[in-house]
Amino acid sequence: MARFIFITGGVVSSLGKGLASAALGSLLQARGYSVRLRKLDPYLNVDPGTMSPFEHGEVFVTDDGAETDLDLGHYERFTGVSARKTDSVSSGRIYSTVLEKERRGDYLGKTIQVIPHVTNEIKDFISIGEDEVDFMLCEIGGTVGDIEGLPFFEAIRQFAQDKPRGQCIFMHLTLLPYITASGELKTKPTQHSVKELRSIGIAPDILVCRSEHPIPDKEREKLALFCNVRPDAVIAAPDLKSIYEAPLAYHREGMDRAVLDAFGLEQKAPDLAKWEDVADRIFNPEGEVNVAIVGKYVQLEDAYKSIAEALTHGGIHNRVKVNAEWIDSEIFEREDPTPYLEKFDAILVPGGFGERGTEGKIKAVKYAREHNIPYLGICLGMQMAVIEAARNQAGIADAGSEEFDHEAGQRRFTPVVYHLKEWLEGNRTIQREVSDDKGGTMRLGAYNADLTAGSKVAGIYGESAISERHRHRYEVDLDYKSKLEDKGLIFSGMSPDGRLPEIVERPDHPWFIGVQFHPELKSKPFAPHPLFASFIGAAVDQSRLV
Ligand code: GLN
Repeated sequence: MARFIFITGGVVSSLGKGLASAALGSLLQARGYSVRLRKLDPYLNVDPGTMSPFEHGEVFVTDDGAETDLDLGHYERFTGVSARKTDSVSSGRIYSTVLEKERRGDYLGKTIQVIPHVTNEIKDFISIGEDEVDFMLCEIGGTVGDIEGLPFFEAIRQFAQDKPRGQCIFMHLTLLPYITASGELKTKPTQHSVKELRSIGIAPDILVCRSEHPIPDKEREKLALFCNVRPDAVIAAPDLKSIYEAPLAYHREGMDRAVLDAFGLEQKAPDLAKWEDVADRIFNPEGEVNVAIVGKYVQLEDAYKSIAEALTHGGIHNRVKVNAEWIDSEIFEREDPTPYLEKFDAILVPGGFGERGTEGKIKAVKYAREHNIPYLGICLGMQMAVIEAARNQAGIADAGSEEFDHEAGQRRFTPVVYHLKEWLEGNRTIQREVSDDKGGTMRLGAYNADLTAGSKVAGIYGESAISERHRHRYEVDLDYKSKLEDKGLIFSGMSPDGRLPEIVERPDHPWFIGVQFHPELKSKPFAPHPLFASFIGAAVDQSRLV
């Protein structure tokens, strides 16, 4: 049966709890244990699928088709363990399950209350698959003291109480602010945060303290004394130059040792070779490349978190530093893209929803095609490449996507990209209408694609059949295949039933690929995704030309 590590946060949000959890997961793996990571989010949305990327950052999609929190992306990138639907839950999901049960009469007429009905639902969620791994790491979103978070804190308190002694530990992440005038790290906010945690019955076993400076012994002892933890269970989490340094840095600070100590487990020597290699490649690059990401949600980098990380992984593979610059595509609707794009070695158009900014993205595609700049189009970025070719090469001047017509409520475009109403999931036919709910109704999760023998993508993957994660409602219309192929845009990847175009590429261009799926979601620093490795390789070649 798994041992449980509950990770909570205090003092302020955005301390990197997800990253600390993910890095701890990788350290336990390095010690020879199997792990699974879970995120429990107190917000009331049923899942993050309908949340704006500006609000919540990227929506991370799992193989089994769940739209989850972006922290699950960190978990996968650090541990390589594919996340599942059952690794992410929100208050909204918990409450909606409880209310469904109540309507069905499952509670046999009882009064439904937060304790025990909501907390029981949370505890059931935490224990799903507990026999499968050595360690289950559960991160609670938000900070201790948030009203919405209370049922989760109560549930993990009960959970630890329900289990035999020594099977659950609590790790609390806080901030030690530095007062420049007095040159001191302050422990009081952490003391208050732990006090809050203890007032709801949770005594942390380990404190992880974010700080810009090393923690002097005096402060460490003070924290230990006032927060009732052992001095060697006060772990410093220093600021890092790269997130991929975290496993090595946290190991140096003793995080994995403290965790094993708290469980009374022996200290097997860790194998950190994989992370040493990643760090070496990041900190000793042999060159650099500049990549433009032309998109809509450029103000918040978290909106494209996995793309930014996958580009870094491509850099790790090629031993180069990747300078990614985010450009708002709407600029190109007013101005010539040349002065903006000419300094880049590669151009990426990421996924997106809605019409705003798409005309600018089409201009970026045209620029990449005409100037032989490596181009990677992801999801909407592939659809943009198809529309660009239809308009500017195949003579369909009003080519567009049904998505934009639906949004505008009128027909303005010839739909070379249409609303997908039916597709196969294994042997099952899935059907959708335009009027369906927006939550969880897209073509979501892992689907297979067959690659054309001899195509560029088949060479890049080194395989003829692939599985990648999807998140889209619209699809390139196969009726335009021959017209577009005549102009050099080849359909080199198709769904196994041959009905849905999955990949387009240009054999007459140094590197031009559009994919209907999201390869960025499966890239890892120690196993860069082949498309990103190849794309950055092409950017390196391009940088040598100029
Ligand atoms: N909006 C497009 C669609 O639904 C693209 C989605 C995406 O880029 N993830 O098909």
